Amino acid sequence: MRTMALLATFLLSTVAFPMTASADVCSTVDVLEFDGNNANQSVTTQVEFGPRIPGSNASMDLRNWFMETRPEFDWRLDPHHRGGYNLTNLEGKLIPSDSTEETPVIVLAAHYDSRHRAERDSNPDMTEQPIPGANDGGSGVAVLWELARIIPSLNLDHEIWILLTDAEDQGSNNDPSTWALGARAWAENQTQDDINRTDGFLLVDMIGDADLKIYRTFPPSLNNEEGNRLWMAVENLSGPLGLLDGVEDCSGSIGQDIINFSSMDGVNDDHVPMNEVGIPAIDFIDIRYGENATAWQGYWHTHEDTPDKVSAESLAHIGRLLELGLREGSWLRADVLEPTAEAPETTEVSTTFSPIVSGVVLTVVVMISLAFLGLHQSVRLKR
Ligand SMILES: [Zn+2]
Repeated sequence: MRTMALLATFLLSTVAFPMTASADVCSTVDVLEFDGNNANQSVTTQVEFGPRIPGSNASMDLRNWFMETRPEFDWRLDPHHRGGYNLTNLEGKLIPSDSTEETPVIVLAAHYDSRHRAERDSNPDMTEQPIPGANDGGSGVAVLWELARIIPSLNLDHEIWILLTDAEDQGSNNDPSTWALGARAWAENQTQDDINRTDGFLLVDMIGDADLKIYRTFPPSLNNEEGNRLWMAVENLSGPLGLLDGVEDCSGSIGQDIINFSSMDGVNDDHVPMNEVGIPAIDFIDIRYGENATAWQGYWHTHEDTPDKVSAESLAHIGRLLELGLREGSWLRADVLEPTAEAPETTEVSTTFSPIVSGVVLTVVVMISLAFLGLHQSVRLKR
């Protein structure tokens, strides 16, 4: 991925969040299963496949490894020819038995390709060699792989799709359209029905940096309601997990400054084509890779992007956040969360009256009152 504009920084109005986490959320935090070490070991596994360049054997090995180790999902290869690449997205669906074409979908996504060149490497003789991609590629896949171990046992009442995109990271810095090729192809092939029922597309990319710091990203912009809904969910979940600076977490400790809403990063990544077709999508990404790195510097797109730069703790921060949101239903649209399907149909009418119904009721009440008054008066007059 690359920067969309220069690093843009806006002061955001801080969304109100509770200073202490609620007991409800904390009882869920207690049962989180995400194992950062498990995820971290998979980063080494991925790097050992070799550079996951579109069309390569390493790329195929990664797909096969993911499918074979997570058989509960219904896997499908999604091949396309784009930008000179024969690319292959990998899509896995976990669908409840009573699912219909209106059942909500949450998509968890990461790119699994690694970059074909290391244009930022300090050694000019090495800039045309492919990067290891431990963090840039490996970390996002690692978090999804560990989540995919846990999700089947959650028995969620909506669909979970895991999307591993290809050819995200092969672009050229002077042409924005050469990035996110796999995601673009996937987005363009979604039906309108599937777009409508996708409540959230959560993208993870470069979230393994041992020095993790994640700002809100755009798109979507600050005036996008669906983007605000998802980012507000992130903020509400981050406090109890100890990821917000100065906010007390469920264990009573003061949170670290991991998720930060004081500024925004503009990023061109796989969430962009999703937002373009109307899928609410947000990107979790730390574009400052390495201690004290500035935006799009550090180990990014160099041969230093190795497994030792990725930490189990950072992977766990993001993995636990996503898992907590899934268990709490936080990524779903609120209207879907209140189906009241089990309530008797008659209660539906009692909750809200349309203006027309209210008007009719009011008119009838007034007429009866007038009639009664008139009758009453007429009765009195007769007396
Ligand atoms: Zn990259």
